[in-house]
Amino acid sequence: MTTFESLNIASGILQSIKDLGFENPMPVQAEVIPIALKGERDIIALAQTGTGKTAAFGIPLLQNIDTSVAKTQALVLCPTRELCMQITKDIEDLATHTKNVRILAVYGGASIEQQIRELKKGNHIIVATPGRLIDLMGRKAARLNEVNTVVLDEADEMLNMGFLDSIEQILSDVPEDKKTLLFSATMPQGVASIAGRYMRNPVEITIGRKNEGSANVTHTYYLVPAKEKYKVLRRICDSEPDIYGIIFCRTRTETQEIANRLMHDGYNADVLHGDLSQAQRDSVMQKFRLRNIQMLVATDVAARGLDVDDLTHVINFSLPQDGEVYTHRSGRTGRAGKKGISISLVNLKEKHLLQQIEKKVKKPFILMKIPTGREICGKQLFHWIGKLESVDTDHQQIDSLLPEIYDRLKDLSREELIRRVVNLEFNRFLEDYKNAPDIEVPSGERGQELAPNRKNKRNQITGAAEEGFTRFFINLGRLDGIRPSQIIDLINKNTRGKKIPVGKIDLMREFSFFEIESSFTKDVLEAMGNITIMERNIVVKIAREKDDMPKGRDTSTERPSDQNKKGKKDRMKSKAKRGRY
Ligand code: AMP
Repeated sequence: MTTFESLNIASGILQSIKDLGFENPMPVQAEVIPIALKGERDIIALAQTGTGKTAAFGIPLLQNIDTSVAKTQALVLCPTRELCMQITKDIEDLATHTKNVRILAVYGGASIEQQIRELKKGNHIIVATPGRLIDLMGRKAARLNEVNTVVLDEADEMLNMGFLDSIEQILSDVPEDKKTLLFSATMPQGVASIAGRYMRNPVEITIGRKNEGSANVTHTYYLVPAKEKYKVLRRICDSEPDIYGIIFCRTRTETQEIANRLMHDGYNADVLHGDLSQAQRDSVMQKFRLRNIQMLVATDVAARGLDVDDLTHVINFSLPQDGEVYTHRSGRTGRAGKKGISISLVNLKEKHLLQQIEKKVKKPFILMKIPTGREICGKQLFHWIGKLESVDTDHQQIDSLLPEIYDRLKDLSREELIRRVVNLEFNRFLEDYKNAPDIEVPSGERGQELAPNRKNKRNQITGAAEEGFTRFFINLGRLDGIRPSQIIDLINKNTRGKKIPVGKIDLMREFSFFEIESSFTKDVLEAMGNITIMERNIVVKIAREKDDMPKGRDTSTERPSDQNKKGKKDRMKSKAKRGRY
């Protein structure tokens, strides 16, 4: 395995790397650092945020600075003020044991006079947003005639934000023999064209596959009648009590409206978009980083500079028009080796758009069932009970009050006490959902678990697989606490290393269906035909076109008859073990 020591990194920087707690180079670092340290080649690196790209260019930039020359030798261009500050801080962190390196961030929305004063002091590395740098060049405050390396970070985003002219102007103003390192999550035509015109024989490095989402992200979607979108969003948030995520909207107005509604309804949410002042944006981002806010409703541009590694969810309240924007959004979760979930709320008219995005991401999107009020209350209840189990009871202050509390509650039985406490805690949810009808999905949709009409439920049971896929039955259902991601894990675990593409998953009450690419049918049957989990036989078989479904009954409580008896016996055995898959 590549180590930082084997990359010829100077000892002072190695020490900073150690201080930062980085143990081994991330793939983009292992690839970029040796080439950039030599300073002989241009580099194009296709890498998303979260892959460690800042250190990949920051380390060689720092090491190649000649501190005896008080001139700007390296320039980093990036799309937003927040990213500019983040990159500057990251390079400063890497420079803590390197003497006399001066790094300066220059960006719009801050005093230009102050930046001019700082520039006069002489800086070895300038990290800049393109517009402000052009201003400073125009005022002859930024001098770039000694620059030997230019980094274009998030090049695709800089172009999206309309910085093409500024970038071209800057690139034609720096010495021709400089080296250019271009980092981009995607390679749209505009970026390819800059590379073609301004870079010479670049080394191309791809981290993950081009234009593909992170491997750690599960993509899910809910089919939602347009007018019910907000209600569904609430249900999703309510059924994920530990959510820490970004909710993306399409416009600033929509962003503000959704944030207002969430805050009004008592959620720990806030808003981030371009109409806020810089001070407001900084404050919101800081609160979100500190997890004082659980859900940030944001526009794509405003969320750019936000560097948070452990988001549990990204929610697309509105689908983006462009698959690349979706890749960016979903890539904000599932980072640094953690799992993440990207959720999209999709209405009928957007199905086509979803299919286009699905193609681009090259991963199946899983249709989810909108949680019922009852399911949500259950989730909240068990989340709260989890907290109750782990609460730290070592509070001396409370001890003195306990005798009186015991006395006042002495007539309540254990059961009554629990009932009352649970009721108190859950009033909000019980009130909200007590009489709430399930949200119906417009008819004509695939896999409509929600539609109350029996024909659709029947379709789900008997439904034909997507083209090229085979539909399997498995005797684990919602009652067993099984989730789509766990079915995928089960398939992966049992078909070790085969990377079987999984399609649609339909969870029923007591059993489920999953689809896999047909060429893997035999592999799945062989690997999963005879497995046991916690002493329970798991039945996996090809789902049959069902023609003996009892008429007029709620099929979600039924299973195909031949699977029924055995499953019932197994289930009784494992009743005590529910929810543990
Ligand atoms: P970036 O892609 O530059 O935004 O980096 C993503 C995150 O990974 C940042 O929080 C970095 O501090 C962290 N990071 C960068 N390099 C490493 C490494 N070699 N090991 C562990 N974490 C790293």
